[in-house]
Amino acid sequence: MALAEETKRIAAQFEYTDEDVNKGVQEFLRQMNEGLQHDGTSMSQIPTYVTGVPNGTEKGLYLAVDLGGTNFRVCSIHLNGDTTFNLTYSKIAIPKELMVAEQASDLFGFLAKQIELFLRTHHEDHFAAHVRRRQTVSTPEGYRDEQIFRLGFTFSFPVRQVGINKGTLMRWTKGFDIPDAVGKDVCALLQQEIDRLHLPVKVAALVNDTVGTLMARSYTSPGKTSTLLGAIFGTGTNGAYVEKITNIKKPVEGDYDKTTGLMVINTEWGSFDNQLNVLPNTSYDIELDQKSVNPGIQIFEKRVSGMFLGEIVRLVVVDMLKNPAISLFKDENSSHNDWKSTTTIGEGSGIFQQWGLDSSLMSIAAADSTPDQSSLRQELEKQLNIYAASLEDAQAFRTVANAVGRRAARLSAVALGAVVLQSGKLQEASDEPIDIGVDGSLVEHYPFFRDMIYEALAAVDGIGPDGAKRIRIGIAKDGSGVGAALIALVAANME
Ligand code: ADP
Repeated sequence: MALAEETKRIAAQFEYTDEDVNKGVQEFLRQMNEGLQHDGTSMSQIPTYVTGVPNGTEKGLYLAVDLGGTNFRVCSIHLNGDTTFNLTYSKIAIPKELMVAEQASDLFGFLAKQIELFLRTHHEDHFAAHVRRRQTVSTPEGYRDEQIFRLGFTFSFPVRQVGINKGTLMRWTKGFDIPDAVGKDVCALLQQEIDRLHLPVKVAALVNDTVGTLMARSYTSPGKTSTLLGAIFGTGTNGAYVEKITNIKKPVEGDYDKTTGLMVINTEWGSFDNQLNVLPNTSYDIELDQKSVNPGIQIFEKRVSGMFLGEIVRLVVVDMLKNPAISLFKDENSSHNDWKSTTTIGEGSGIFQQWGLDSSLMSIAAADSTPDQSSLRQELEKQLNIYAASLEDAQAFRTVANAVGRRAARLSAVALGAVVLQSGKLQEASDEPIDIGVDGSLVEHYPFFRDMIYEALAAVDGIGPDGAKRIRIGIAKDGSGVGAALIALVAANME
């Protein structure tokens, strides 16, 4: 059979029809509400203790750090009090070995060191003043009083939050695995390492990046519309939305402001449908899951987010390469029998390694609509040592990548659509947009990702084309940094 036809047949396994989207939305709503009833459900639906959104008049200088996946971000945010802010920012790749370190202190010590480096580089004046003061005070408590910076700690893994700056790690995701940290208070782990370095910093708030995205978007959203949902589509995927307190049936420990009648809920939707009631499950999804560090969990995330999409594509490509009847990246002159040697793929190519294909290559494939696929062919060579890919090869790769990307966008629409329906906002007589803030490389850079989401939303019963038009999905740039600063400010006011 011709390559194009074979590829179409394989890509068809990733089709996710309008009917599938609707089934997905219904199940998503069911699991959201289940998570509001009690603990131990597939979607954790974690109350965040954040009961309001900023109004733009907040002022001050705050620190925010973000541990969420591939990178560690450190920033300082000056809130000007007029809905604007100035942000100073640095981004450091997390060394792979620290993601699976023996001791929690290995990772958290590294993070504290990066905070020190950032302060020395960008706030030397504050830092020097602190060191001078510290020389006159002898106890740790003494210099803790002198602390200048309140820090919002964005920690984008499932935590059981029991206060505004206290929460225990439930489990690692996204390739991290440091058992020593599980069950511990991650704010205390970071504060310990900060204190070890005598930094003038107090960890004031524990922030999930999606909550930060929601807060920041709400602070800056056009027309001062308050935002319903913050959603991340980066290394991982997750969403936080504004829920009515009356819908939260499970007990919420500790104190919080009840006057607004609202609380932000961190859904942890990466683990939506771990039971596989409705999610698609191709042989490639199964293989990816089985070879991951956390088989059986984060099942939705493994079909949607940046960390996994490239790997799904890679598994499909490897499967095609192994099949002698399919002529993909084949070396016509090869007389070898083993499948690797019959290809034009160079030794050490990412194609032969788990996680070796970055999702960004899918964006290049989706963006290359040129007749000769020249930029995709160039990238295949550059990123994966695939030499002399024919036009048919490149087209086949593109077909597979697009199918996996499109399924991810339509699955994303399941989550967004369900939250919109849960809010009841479409029933309210209002022309106001229903605002959703999104962040993450996938939704920012993957071509037409948002368009594909809108297309699927329009097919959802109860939303339809008119409802989809009312939904406004906007990028919340640097969302987690500004959002974390805003929550640190709220927390500092409660001290
Ligand atoms: P994080 O979620 O770790 O804070 P990002 O939002 O930058 O950071 O997401 C990084 C993830 O996005 C990685 O898994 C990477 O493979 C993927 N990614 C980066 N660039 C692109 C792109 N242009 N298209 C699709 N995926 C991308």
